[in-house]
Amino acid sequence: MAPTLSNELLLKAVEKFDTPLYVYDEERIHFQYSKLLHAFHQSDVKIFYACKALSNINILRILQKLGSGIDCVSLNEVQFALKAGFEPSKIIFTPNSVSIDDYKEAVSIGVNINIDNLEILRQFGEHYGSSYPVVVRINPHIMAGGNIKISTGHIDSKFGISIDQIDQILKIKSQTQIKIKGLHLHTGSEIKEVDVFINGLQLMLELSKKFEELSIIDLGGGFKVPYKPDEKGANIDELGMRLHETLSKFETDQHKKFQIWFEPGKYIVSEAGYFLTKATIIKENPTRTFVGVDSGFNHLIRPMFYDAYHIIHNISNTKGPVKQYNVVGNICETDTFAWDRALHEVSPGDILLFNNAGAYGFEMSSRFNSRTRPAEVLVNKGEMKLIRRRETLDDLIQGQVL
Ligand SMILES: *Cc1c(COP(=O)(O)O)cnc(C)c1O
Repeated sequence: MAPTLSNELLLKAVEKFDTPLYVYDEERIHFQYSKLLHAFHQSDVKIFYACKALSNINILRILQKLGSGIDCVSLNEVQFALKAGFEPSKIIFTPNSVSIDDYKEAVSIGVNINIDNLEILRQFGEHYGSSYPVVVRINPHIMAGGNIKISTGHIDSKFGISIDQIDQILKIKSQTQIKIKGLHLHTGSEIKEVDVFINGLQLMLELSKKFEELSIIDLGGGFKVPYKPDEKGANIDELGMRLHETLSKFETDQHKKFQIWFEPGKYIVSEAGYFLTKATIIKENPTRTFVGVDSGFNHLIRPMFYDAYHIIHNISNTKGPVKQYNVVGNICETDTFAWDRALHEVSPGDILLFNNAGAYGFEMSSRFNSRTRPAEVLVNKGEMKLIRRRETLDDLIQGQVL
């Protein structure tokens, strides 16, 4: 059974640290990571946690101790990873739309480099020649045989080098001697279909025939986790089995060995996170009932930004009659967390809990409306630890030059 935090403990956290509050469960992070290890144990697979999902250094340390690698999309994330104790060899730098200067700095740190456009590939090759092997991000468009939809690996996506431009990669390679040690593909988030990953793998394996020194295939992240009550996530056990089948057959046929990299973010931390808010007002309009909470899209933007569904529980009243509510925030703009949601009757002061708040929750928070950002708490086997203090007015003003 997957570890979850009890309402009792979450209410205790609120008593101690107030709302709005993010709470993370260390045991659940361990659990998710070990599910990944188990699913992929038959193949040479390395996990790189995509830390843009949740980058508090205390969380990164958990993954570092578990033996994970880490995927960073900015140099600051790389610095966080170093602070958390990751060896540079366990860090991948996967930026996009950054200048060669960022890549040079990453090289000086010694991390793995993932290049996602031809211009940088050329500049990098001209500067480093064969001395610093890189991974190249491929945009697969519609896959060969194409019966799968790629959510963000489509032809108009800004990410990666088009699969139609392989010849140009090979040309840069022969002109500059740059070594390509890996091919990378990240087709998007919330991918449920195992086929998407297997077809991606097959495509990369085919391409690998053109790159003799290739030893790494990075299949990105994006494993779906359940958000709605009866939803299913990606079946990673099935993925692990089919990956092993596909890969070992190719390796035997071609007399080659590959290491497979994955970069899950959401899968590792989404369900480990809880967001706690307090009901401030109940407003009965002629057509609907609103419950206003002491937060808004400045703290959890996914419902407004992605139309995401988060399960909400009234953990102060778990038995009363159920009513329909629109759960809304306190931002001066429409910031609806949930439409027509059935909740046990809510009274002012009740604590509303949002599930799946670990990934892209605090991480995407802002100070819009000059409101401060929430505190973050890490729970390990019932022990609560503050890992980010609540912001204050001073934090908002600090940095302004008056
Ligand atoms: C965001 C991102 C991921 C993680 O995606 P999840 O949906 O959180 O698993 C992995 N790789 C890259 C390159 C990303 O940009």
